[in-house]
Order: sequence, then structure tokens, then C-alpha cells
Amino acid sequence: MRILVAEDERVCRRMLEATLTKWGYDVVVACDGDEAWQVLQQEDAPKFALLDWMMPGMDGPEVCRKVRERATGPYVYIILLTAKNQKDELIQGMEAGADDYVTKPFDADELRARLRAGKRILELQEQRRALREALEVQATHDSLTGLWNRAAILDILQRELDRAKREGTPVGVILADLDHFKWINDSFGHLAGDAVLREAAQRMNSAMRGYDAVGRYGGEEFLIVAPGCDADNAMQAAERVRECISREPIHTADGLIGPVTLSLGVAASAGLAEEETGSLLRAADMALYRAKGEGRNRAAMATVTAVMEPSCSQDKGAVPAIPGRNTGTK
Ligand code: GH3
Ligand code: MG
Ligand code: MG
Ligand code: MG
Repeated sequence: MRILVAEDERVCRRMLEATLTKWGYDVVVACDGDEAWQVLQQEDAPKFALLDWMMPGMDGPEVCRKVRERATGPYVYIILLTAKNQKDELIQGMEAGADDYVTKPFDADELRARLRAGKRILELQEQRRALREALEVQATHDSLTGLWNRAAILDILQRELDRAKREGTPVGVILADLDHFKWINDSFGHLAGDAVLREAAQRMNSAMRGYDAVGRYGGEEFLIVAPGCDADNAMQAAERVRECISREPIHTADGLIGPVTLSLGVAASAGLAEEETGSLLRAADMALYRAKGEGRNRAAMATVTAVMEPSCSQDKGAVPAIPGRNTGTK
């Protein structure tokens, strides 16, 4: 574990550095408070700090206070190293935000034990952070394909539309639906169907730019949000997706399936205030319906009036439901 040791006395600093290194810590040294504060502001700064109380420039408690004033960044566990042992001064140090203190001249066993306690807390914190992150991923991603899930991709669309309105830029929306997917399931089995969904998702992702978002909108339907894409750009992107899905059959444990095709409905907002998620999705959905009707394995563009059409008064802003949509002739 990396630890910052800030100590102005050279001999003491050297000794701490050698001792902590011997105990397995990866030591970063600072010769005074200002330098310590600089180190702690760096990206990937140590999350563990042993700060001498008395130092030229900023003293230990002051560095402590500055660290605690930060609104962001990971928690830094701070131990103050002090010759002071008067109670009120120690309280002052703890109030500055220190987690613990060790009095100088320090007892090696005590220092080691206090370092261990700090390390344990930091490790617990790291576990909690990783868990939180994993839960966040779980809550926003589709477990089969790893794409954004329906709620998350709709959030992203809303966010991008809000931003586009502020900046007056377009947002492209593509609704894609695998063709005759029921037939794939029926012919090769549900697991093979899952494998097709996974591979299709991957191909879709690789056909889009890094700042586009691809989500699983429903069973075999996908929603792509392409910030900055006007109708023509979005149509080109849809064509790229169509091509990369159908280009090669898909390998599954149940054999080679394909070529798998999909139909796509494309709509784009122009960054106008009147546009909203619901109307844009409905327009893309109508275009998808047309693509299905015209023979599948193609992309269709929503009409401008469809995009601009205000939502029906009773379901303003509502998002089209997945089930029950008649997707044209089979
Ligand atoms: P179309 O070309 O008109 O879109 O026909 P389709 O067969 O793709 O459409 P339909 O809506 O009739 O069937 C979709 C199928 O997708 C039915 C459903 O069982 C299947 N499906 C939905 N989610 C999953 C999934 O997670 N895994 C698998 N294997 N199949 C799924
Ligand atoms: Mg000092
Ligand atoms: Mg469907
Ligand atoms: Mg389908």
C-alpha cells in the first residue's frame, strides 16, 4: 500500500521511510507540508498519509484540514505524528480531520499497529467502493449482453436530449430489431438465441463510436443514442450496424447461425425545445415498422413530421411499450 510520509527533519524522515518500506509500504516522501499537499492533490495520490505536526509552511493539521475540505476524491486516512501530547492539542489535531496520531519519539510496535488499523480501514473502504461500483453496473446493464439496460439507455437519451437542447445540437436515435428472431429460437434453441443476442450486441457496439450509447431496449430490440448525429449521420450509422450484423454468420455452440439480419428505424432531433424522448422514440419506432414492412434487413428514416409530432395528450412523454407492437408482415 502506498503511503505519504511528510516529515521536515531529515533523520526522522529517512528512518520512517526505511522502517515503513521494511514493513511493506510503498513510501512517498515529502519534506514539508506544502509538498505533502502537492502530493495529495496529484492524480492517484496515496490514500494513506503520515504527517508530522510541526513542519515549515503548512503544518500537519493544516494539510489535514485542506484534505477534508475537498468535496471530491477518495478518502485519505491520516495519522498525525506529533511531539505534542497535551490533550487539547491532540483534540485540535483530530478536529482538523486526522484519523489517528502517534507521539514522537514513536514506539515502533505502536506505529506499526496503528498503521495496520489504518490499512484495514482503507481496505474495507476499497471493498465497499468496488461493491458499490459492481452494484451500479448491475443496476444499469443488461446481464445477457452487457449493454445498457432499458432504464439506463432511456436515461441517457433524456440526458443527451437535454444537453442537445442547451447546445442546439442534434441527437440521432436508432431502434433496431432482429429479424425473425423467434424463428432462430425455435430452430436452434433458446441458448443459441442468447448467443446471437450477445454477438449482435457486440457487433453493434463495435459499429458505433465510443461516445454513442447502445442499450438493450427489450427482448431482441436495441436502442442506440448517437449524440451530435443528424438524420443523415444517424442513417449512415444504422447502415453500418445493419452491415456488420449481417456480414458474417454467428458462431454458437449449436452451430453457425445466419446471416442474422435486423431492421432499423432512425430518427434525429434537431436540438429544438419541442422535442422529447417520447416523440423521438415513437418516430423511430414507426420507421422501424416501415423497415419491417418493406422487407426487413434495412434501415428506414423517420419522417420529419413524425419526429416533430407532439405526443398524444394523454401519454405525453411516454415511451412506446415493447410488447404488442405489430412489426409488419412475417
Ligand atoms: P420480426 O422480424 O418481426 O421482428 O420477428 P421476430 O420473430 O424477431 O419477432 P417476435 O416479436 O415474434 O419474436 C421475438 C422473439 O424474441 C420472441 C422471444 O421469445 C425472443 N426473445 C426475447 N428475449 C429473448 C432472450 O433474452 N433470449 C432469447 N433467446 N430469446 C428472446
Ligand atoms: Mg517537524
Ligand atoms: Mg421485437
Ligand atoms: Mg424481431
